[in-house]
Amino acid sequence: AKAAGRDRAVTYDAGLRERQLERTELVERLRAALTAEQFTVYYQPIVTLGTGGFDAVEALVRWFPAPGELIGPDRFIPAAEDSGLIVALGEWVLRQACRDAAGWHRQHGTAVTVNVSPRQLMEPDYAATVGRALRDSGLPPAALILEITEGMLVGAANQEDRTIAQLSALRRQGVRVAVDDFGTGYSSLAYLRDLPIDILKIDRSFLPSGEPGAADRQLSFVRTIVDLAHNLRLAAVAEGVETPAQVALLRELGCDKGQGYHFGRPRNAAETTEVLAAAQLT
Ligand code: C2E
Ligand code: CA
Ligand code: CA
Ligand code: CA
Repeated sequence: AKAAGRDRAVTYDAGLRERQLERTELVERLRAALTAEQFTVYYQPIVTLGTGGFDAVEALVRWFPAPGELIGPDRFIPAAEDSGLIVALGEWVLRQACRDAAGWHRQHGTAVTVNVSPRQLMEPDYAATVGRALRDSGLPPAALILEITEGMLVGAANQEDRTIAQLSALRRQGVRVAVDDFGTGYSSLAYLRDLPIDILKIDRSFLPSGEPGAADRQLSFVRTIVDLAHNLRLAAVAEGVETPAQVALLRELGCDKGQGYHFGRPRNAAETTEVLAAAQLT
């Protein structure tokens, strides 16, 4: 039995070591990919439900390790976060997004929203980094929205103070702040009260199907979040909108904006330029 135990321990360690190696290898590949400019920013429209106007686009990073080969962010953002590489990658995405959006904003008034990792927000000079990206691109601060996930709001008490200080500094520059994936974390109402934020993005797992007779519980969840947002004078954005029935429902609930395959999938900058020009004609 002793021998078997030892064997198991050896197997376990080997597996762990293999996974650590894979992680290290992935991080090395990501570092090289950043230098080799293998990342591309895609953009997905965010639509005002009342008017159907393309109000903003969300910047979503993609990795093309080889021609025709695409890797989505869910497969590399966690490793980039663990290793700290997200600070450099996130700044690259921010600068690229501001550059791309400057023209769209001039022509169509479109804003851009960029995802920010907790590691980036904890950098003492993050607000200055954002200021530089805005100045270098010519994008006005009012046209930039930074998305932070609800999960990052729940941390150590001193981290909470730093988060509030950082977000306040960003908002003093005129940048808006959105809470991403709202409803999936564990933030209390006190967080929402204390945080300097402008927008709540409702996670797509809460979106009701919109089918007649479908579970009303889902519906009352979204209604509650929309009402909460409005009581706090925040805009409500629904993610993962895929059907006309969902659009109708969200409008009925008074949700301000929607994002999802129904309005458009994430596309590269050149395609987004065409999508925005076409949207203005209708
Ligand atoms: P997210 O911020 O919640 O982004 C929305 C994700 O939902 C995107 O996946 C988008 O393609 C997908 N989506 C949009 N509409 C629909 C829909 O109607 N149905 C369904 N099923 N899915 C929809 P994506 O691009 O794979 O991004 C995944 C996550 O990776 C993002 O989730 C975000 O948390 C993270 N991410 C992406 N880009 C960046 C970045 O530049 N920096 C950081 N820190 N994280 C990023
Ligand atoms: Ca997001
Ligand atoms: Ca989200
Ligand atoms: Ca998400």
